[in-house]
Amino acid sequence: MTISSHCSAETSNISNILKTAGIGDDPNWMAVILFVRNLLTKLSVYTDDKKAEIQRDICTEILKRDFSDEHYDVIIAMLDMYIMQNIGTQELEEALTREKKSAAMLLQEMNDIINSMQGVNKRHSERLDTFNATAVNAIQDGSSSTAILTRVRGMFQELITEFKDEARELSAKADHFERTANFDPLLTGLYNRRAMESFINGAVRECDKNSTPLSLMMVDVDHFKRVNDTYGHQAGDDVLRALGNIISAHALQYNGFAARYGGEELVIVVKDMDLGRAAIKSEAVRADVENYDFRVRTDGKLSDVPLRFTVSVGVAQLQTGWNSSTLISAADSALYKAKNFGRNRVCVASS
Ligand code: GH3
Ligand code: MG
Ligand code: MG
Repeated sequence: MTISSHCSAETSNISNILKTAGIGDDPNWMAVILFVRNLLTKLSVYTDDKKAEIQRDICTEILKRDFSDEHYDVIIAMLDMYIMQNIGTQELEEALTREKKSAAMLLQEMNDIINSMQGVNKRHSERLDTFNATAVNAIQDGSSSTAILTRVRGMFQELITEFKDEARELSAKADHFERTANFDPLLTGLYNRRAMESFINGAVRECDKNSTPLSLMMVDVDHFKRVNDTYGHQAGDDVLRALGNIISAHALQYNGFAARYGGEELVIVVKDMDLGRAAIKSEAVRADVENYDFRVRTDGKLSDVPLRFTVSVGVAQLQTGWNSSTLISAADSALYKAKNFGRNRVCVASS
């Protein structure tokens, strides 16, 4: 019996267990789950029956859904009690050697589960070495069995605390990892190209299946090279950030997906919006950009006169038989038309 099967049959990973129990990603509780679900099952000082009993008892507590600090202390006290009751001194040294190995396997498993753990293996293995050495020393010192148990109990508590710290750190790393993987580093409110392609692929499938429209607006800054050449690359970056904010604000109004397609080309992908409406929304973006009062910042000081810049927009709607590349190409061709017609305008793709 494992904690997974007690909680729910499909709770096969930590985040599912946390979700099922309504814990979210509170590091204290994550640490308890990691300890009880993973480390405990690997500890050879307990029989399988005993492990199942501990897991059952702790899981019953967790499912009370009382996530207060007081209840957390109750659970830690229960774990303490089990540790005190069940570790016998004779087999301790041998067991700890075995446990060091299985705890290392557990930590490897945690790596996989949390999925963002580069660079921590060395630290883990150092921790485990310390853990093992302290335990062995305690035994070899010839301390009384009570003294050994007290030290081992302390070590287990430290381990729980460490899991807690680790869980908190990993959760932050996972958040950071997710941002890096999906968002643009310069225009931080916008998705990157990889995320955009994945979104469009899903949206194309969905809109094909439901026979609903899907539109894409491709926005490109006019004569952006001139901005860089005249005001410098830094000012160019600031212009892009301003454009990114305008695009995000517009996309937000109609649940559009705003992303940076390339250098100074941004896109908005919108489900349930046809070409006519998308053209109107694109015109609103174009006009907002044209009227935007952008000031160049030099040495922290803003310029007295605004730097006006404009964009051209190409719009396309998904047609029968198209895939995500066809849709992007169609919007790109429309953008090309807008440039050729003199820029600062919106052109729609012909189907
Ligand atoms: P067009 O109206 O035809 O689009 O003219 P353009 O000058 O914008 O031409 P093009 O699209 O070919 O050039 C885009 C320029 O944008 C070239 C590149 O140096 C600049 N650029 C691309 N990414 C960035 C960026 O992140 N920051 C800055 N400052 N410039 C960038
Ligand atoms: Mg351009
Ligand atoms: Mg361009």
